[in-house]
Amino acid sequence: MGKVALVTVIAIDGPAGSGKSTVARAVAGRLGIAYLDTGAMYRSVALAAIRHGIDPADTERVGAVARAIRLDLGAEGTVHVDGFDATIEIRGPEVTRAVSVVAANPEVRTELRERQRRWVDQAGGGVLEGRDIGTVVFPDADLKVYLDAKPEVRAARRSREVTDLSYETVAADLARRDALDQGRDDSPLTVAGDAVVIDTSDLGVDDIVERIVGLLR
Ligand code: C5P
Repeated sequence: MGKVALVTVIAIDGPAGSGKSTVARAVAGRLGIAYLDTGAMYRSVALAAIRHGIDPADTERVGAVARAIRLDLGAEGTVHVDGFDATIEIRGPEVTRAVSVVAANPEVRTELRERQRRWVDQAGGGVLEGRDIGTVVFPDADLKVYLDAKPEVRAARRSREVTDLSYETVAADLARRDALDQGRDDSPLTVAGDAVVIDTSDLGVDDIVERIVGLLR
């Protein structure tokens, strides 16, 4: 008798500060399945390029970095890039400034898309959060959720996470990244036609997680 593959893919997309990471991690925990933060992968490529002194806009050289990089994303949120612990540094301002340019590079996207699909094959499914998971990486995902929130709520959440930057700086950075992520040619941030849209502005994490888990039933 052949083995039946039971692969569940849950795609959680949305802009920065929409609550994706917290919610995606909690949903994965509730269901006992794996979780992948695809933003951390783009951030890791940006960091590796910066470390090699490569201009983030240099399509060819950054593409080569993406193909060569060794990435280890730990279950607890740790990120190792080419063997060194980059967990903190990938969230820093230098990487945050460069990441959307790196993420607009089609060579980078092709490579990371492949890695994300391989990750699902190996993990046997999971919760993936990002910008293009439901639209491009897994258009046949079992469940697609698009999280959003009012811009001022998203900026307030982010500025609570980064204590060394002013609210204005964080808000301006979010607006700039939104525009770049939504405006790029290759897999822009957009709502999949069959995604469930949840505005998280006035919702608690537990309520959102309940709703998503409920959608699976
Ligand atoms: O989720 P996070 O804010 O850490 O993502 C960082 C950046 O990585 C985003 O602003 C976006 O440019 C890029 N990204 C992407 N596609 C994904 C995940 C992240 O383009 N699936």
